Amino acid sequence: MEKIVELKNVSMNYHSSNGETQAIQDISFDIYNGEFVSIVGPSGCGKSTILSLISGILKPTSGNVFVKGAKVDGTSENVGYMLQKDHLFEWRSIIKNTLIGLEVQNKLNKDNWEYVNQLLDEYGLGEFKEHYPNQLSGGMRQRAALIRTLAAKPEILLLDEPFSALDYQTRLAISEEIWLIIKKEKKTAILVTHDIAEAVSASDRIIVLTNRPAQVKSIYNINLTCDTKTPISCREAPEFRYYFNQIWKELDVHV
Ligand code: ADP
Ligand code: MG
Repeated sequence: MEKIVELKNVSMNYHSSNGETQAIQDISFDIYNGEFVSIVGPSGCGKSTILSLISGILKPTSGNVFVKGAKVDGTSENVGYMLQKDHLFEWRSIIKNTLIGLEVQNKLNKDNWEYVNQLLDEYGLGEFKEHYPNQLSGGMRQRAALIRTLAAKPEILLLDEPFSALDYQTRLAISEEIWLIIKKEKKTAILVTHDIAEAVSASDRIIVLTNRPAQVKSIYNINLTCDTKTPISCREAPEFRYYFNQIWKELDVHV
């Protein structure tokens, strides 16, 4: 399989008025094309920093990040970023929200306009194009946010705790929907989450990080026996509890 993201001995220090914070210490890992990989680790350990480095928003203090074999130097259309808050503009219709990235970058044309409309139709928002975000459920809003991210046709999606503001039931349903879209559109996904069950149910691999400064503590290949291979059904897999308990122990969560 083709490596699509590579981190090679990446370290990241933040400098602020309070001094220096080392967020990442000598992290190396590879992500392969089409994989769904989750990153879990203690709060504040450096997870979001890793996504920002992959997206090119931040530059590592040392080491290198490669996307499709090229050294990351600034942001690129190949990488889409989805955050916990959907950041939809309440005064813009759904179609206008999903087109905003293309519009701002002056890249809106007939082709990508059609592509976005097709995504909205395909993923249950066809009748809501002229609606406003506050007329949509939380799940529909997240889908709209994902379609806005997909509009630029990124090959890699970075998801930073995109479901953590939602209640448990909604979260299960939405993570299932989002996962299905990501698979159907054949994207590579890197999900940061503090929800171990979410990570185990959705991922091909899980990267477990240490406390700050983050280092790779371990990497799990997730092999679950389940018929449909979707996150909700994978929660029923006999191996699910094993992975959950292993990662729980590694994270050593103190209540
Ligand atoms: P996580 O996403 O795992 O919770 P972050 O990557 O957001 O962690 O942050 C890792 C560490 O770096 C934290 O201690 C945080 O306070 C610090 N940090 C994050 N962003 C900045 C910044 N812009 N300036 C200074 N310190 C930062
Ligand atoms: Mg974070």
